[in-house]
Amino acid sequence: MFFGMARFVDSPKELWESIAWASSIRCSSGQYGYYPNTTEPVFPSDLVRFKCNDTQCLCQTMTQKPHLGQIVAFGRDFRTYREHSSPEGSIVLKVQRFQLINQFLSRPTYQNLTLDPPPHSREFIMLDDTIDVVPEELIERLTDITVYFDYAFRSSVQLPSDRSTDSLSPNEHI
Ligand SMILES: [Zn+2]
Repeated sequence: MFFGMARFVDSPKELWESIAWASSIRCSSGQYGYYPNTTEPVFPSDLVRFKCNDTQCLCQTMTQKPHLGQIVAFGRDFRTYREHSSPEGSIVLKVQRFQLINQFLSRPTYQNLTLDPPPHSREFIMLDDTIDVVPEELIERLTDITVYFDYAFRSSVQLPSDRSTDSLSPNEHI
Protein backbone atom coordinates (compact mmCIF):
# COMPACT_ATOMS: atom_id res chain seq x y z
CA MET A 1 0.00 0.00 0.00
CA PHE A 2 1.24 3.49 -0.89
CA PHE A 3 1.45 6.27 1.73
CA GLY A 4 2.57 9.84 1.23
CA MET A 5 2.51 12.64 -1.26
CA ALA A 6 1.32 12.18 -4.81
CA ARG A 7 3.89 11.43 -7.47
CA PHE A 8 3.95 13.28 -10.78
CA VAL A 9 5.14 10.78 -13.40
CA ASP A 10 5.29 10.55 -17.20
CA SER A 11 2.49 7.99 -17.53
CA PRO A 12 0.18 8.01 -14.48
CA LYS A 13 -1.46 4.66 -13.74
CA GLU A 14 -1.85 4.48 -9.97
CA LEU A 15 -4.25 6.48 -7.81
CA TRP A 16 -1.34 8.23 -6.06
CA GLU A 17 -0.18 9.45 -9.48
CA SER A 18 -3.51 11.21 -10.08
CA ILE A 19 -4.52 14.84 -9.68
CA ALA A 20 -7.19 13.63 -7.22
CA TRP A 21 -4.47 12.39 -4.83
CA ALA A 22 -2.30 15.45 -5.45
CA SER A 23 -5.07 17.91 -4.65
CA SER A 24 -6.03 16.42 -1.28
CA ILE A 25 -4.26 16.89 2.04
CA ARG A 26 -6.13 13.81 3.33
CA CYS A 27 -4.13 11.58 1.01
CA SER A 28 -0.62 12.81 1.75
CA SER A 29 -0.28 11.23 5.23
CA GLY A 30 0.94 14.45 6.78
CA GLN A 31 3.54 15.15 4.10
CA TYR A 32 3.38 18.60 2.48
CA GLY A 33 5.38 21.28 0.77
CA TYR A 34 6.33 24.23 2.98
CA TYR A 35 6.68 27.95 2.49
CA PRO A 36 10.41 28.76 2.39
CA ASN A 37 12.08 29.13 5.79
CA THR A 38 8.88 28.30 7.69
CA THR A 39 7.12 25.30 9.18
CA GLU A 40 3.90 26.43 7.48
CA PRO A 41 2.59 23.88 4.98
CA VAL A 42 1.33 24.89 1.54
CA PHE A 43 -2.19 23.58 0.98
CA PRO A 44 -4.32 23.30 -2.14
CA SER A 45 -6.47 26.45 -2.50
CA ASP A 46 -3.79 28.70 -0.91
CA LEU A 47 -3.24 31.95 -2.78
CA VAL A 48 0.45 32.47 -3.49
CA ARG A 49 3.03 34.46 -5.38
CA PHE A 50 5.56 32.46 -7.34
CA LYS A 51 8.39 32.74 -9.84
CA CYS A 52 7.73 30.84 -13.06
CA ASN A 53 10.23 28.64 -14.90
CA ASP A 54 10.80 31.05 -17.80
CA THR A 55 14.28 32.48 -17.27
CA GLN A 56 13.41 35.43 -19.57
CA CYS A 57 10.29 36.38 -17.58
CA LEU A 58 10.26 39.66 -15.68
CA CYS A 59 9.28 37.79 -12.51
CA GLN A 60 12.93 36.66 -12.33
CA THR A 61 13.98 40.26 -11.78
CA MET A 62 13.03 42.79 -9.17
CA THR A 63 11.21 44.88 -11.81
CA GLN A 64 8.01 42.84 -11.55
CA LYS A 65 6.37 41.13 -8.62
CA PRO A 66 6.18 37.35 -8.79
CA HIS A 67 3.09 35.87 -10.44
CA LEU A 68 -0.13 35.38 -8.54
CA GLY A 69 -1.97 32.08 -8.41
CA GLN A 70 -3.79 29.42 -6.46
CA ILE A 71 -2.36 26.05 -5.44
CA VAL A 72 -4.27 23.22 -7.11
CA ALA A 73 -2.03 20.24 -6.31
CA PHE A 74 1.23 19.18 -4.68
CA GLY A 75 3.53 16.18 -4.84
CA ARG A 76 6.94 14.85 -5.74
CA ASP A 77 8.09 15.28 -9.33
CA PHE A 78 9.41 12.10 -10.96
CA ARG A 79 8.75 13.12 -14.57
CA THR A 80 11.56 12.62 -17.08
CA TYR A 81 11.21 16.16 -18.43
CA ARG A 82 10.79 18.79 -15.73
CA GLU A 83 10.35 22.46 -16.62
CA HIS A 84 12.11 23.49 -13.39
CA SER A 85 15.70 22.88 -12.29
CA SER A 86 14.98 20.96 -9.06
CA PRO A 87 16.09 17.32 -8.96
CA GLU A 88 13.93 14.25 -9.58
CA GLY A 89 11.68 13.55 -6.62
CA SER A 90 11.66 17.13 -5.34
CA ILE A 91 8.48 18.63 -3.92
CA VAL A 92 6.57 20.79 -6.38
CA LEU A 93 3.30 22.71 -6.36
CA LYS A 94 0.93 22.99 -9.29
CA VAL A 95 -0.29 26.58 -9.43
CA GLN A 96 -3.15 27.97 -11.49
CA ARG A 97 -2.04 31.41 -12.58
CA PHE A 98 -4.16 34.56 -12.13
CA GLN A 99 -3.94 37.54 -14.44
CA LEU A 100 -5.47 40.99 -14.31
CA ILE A 101 -8.34 40.78 -16.74
CA ASN A 102 -7.36 44.01 -18.48
CA GLN A 103 -3.90 42.53 -19.21
CA PHE A 104 -5.56 39.37 -20.51
CA LEU A 105 -7.90 41.35 -22.78
CA SER A 106 -4.93 43.22 -24.26
CA ARG A 107 -3.89 40.03 -26.08
CA PRO A 108 -4.42 40.43 -29.86
CA THR A 109 -7.01 37.63 -29.86
CA TYR A 110 -9.30 39.55 -27.53
CA GLN A 111 -8.81 43.15 -28.61
CA ASN A 112 -12.27 43.36 -30.19
CA LEU A 113 -13.98 41.72 -27.22
CA THR A 114 -16.29 43.90 -25.15
CA LEU A 115 -17.45 42.69 -21.76
CA ASP A 116 -20.71 43.78 -20.19
CA PRO A 117 -20.34 44.92 -17.49
CA PRO A 118 -16.79 46.14 -18.17
CA PRO A 119 -14.13 44.56 -15.97
CA HIS A 120 -13.01 46.26 -12.78
CA SER A 121 -9.44 47.61 -12.93
CA ARG A 122 -8.42 45.24 -10.11
CA GLU A 123 -10.25 42.17 -11.37
CA PHE A 124 -8.34 38.94 -12.00
CA ILE A 125 -9.25 35.89 -14.00
CA MET A 126 -7.92 32.37 -13.43
CA LEU A 127 -6.13 31.04 -16.50
CA ASP A 128 -7.34 27.51 -17.29
CA ASP A 129 -4.53 26.94 -19.76
CA THR A 130 -1.67 28.06 -17.51
CA ILE A 131 -0.78 25.62 -14.75
CA ASP A 132 2.76 26.18 -13.50
CA VAL A 133 4.78 23.42 -11.81
CA VAL A 134 6.85 25.26 -9.21
CA PRO A 135 9.41 23.97 -6.69
CA GLU A 136 8.36 24.75 -3.14
CA GLU A 137 11.29 27.13 -2.62
CA LEU A 138 9.86 29.48 -5.28
CA ILE A 139 6.47 29.88 -3.57
CA GLU A 140 5.60 32.84 -1.32
CA ARG A 141 2.49 33.26 0.76
CA LEU A 142 0.32 36.05 -0.62
CA THR A 143 0.49 38.90 1.88
CA ASP A 144 0.58 42.17 -0.06
CA ILE A 145 -2.96 42.15 -1.42
CA THR A 146 -6.35 40.80 -0.37
CA VAL A 147 -8.32 38.77 -2.92
CA TYR A 148 -12.07 38.24 -2.83
CA PHE A 149 -13.66 35.51 -4.92
CA ASP A 150 -16.82 36.56 -6.65
CA TYR A 151 -18.94 33.43 -6.42
CA ALA A 152 -22.18 35.31 -7.04
CA PHE A 153 -21.47 37.23 -10.26
CA ARG A 154 -24.79 38.10 -11.88
CA SER A 155 -26.61 35.96 -9.33
CA SER A 156 -30.04 37.07 -8.21
CA VAL A 157 -29.14 35.98 -4.68
CA GLN A 158 -27.79 38.77 -2.50
CA LEU A 159 -25.77 37.59 0.48
CA PRO A 160 -25.12 39.75 3.55
CA SER A 161 -21.38 39.42 2.90
CA ASP A 162 -21.61 40.57 -0.77
CA ARG A 163 -19.57 43.69 -1.42
CA SER A 164 -19.73 46.30 -4.09
CA THR A 165 -16.58 46.62 -6.19
CA ASP A 166 -16.86 50.36 -5.58
CA SER A 167 -15.90 49.76 -1.95
CA LEU A 168 -12.58 48.02 -2.69
CA SER A 169 -9.60 49.53 -0.92
CA PRO A 170 -6.34 49.92 -2.91
CA ASN A 171 -4.89 46.55 -1.84
CA GLU A 172 -8.06 44.57 -2.51
CA HIS A 173 -8.73 42.64 -5.71
CA ILE A 174 -11.52 40.47 -7.06
ZN1 LIG B 1 7.42 34.58 -14.67
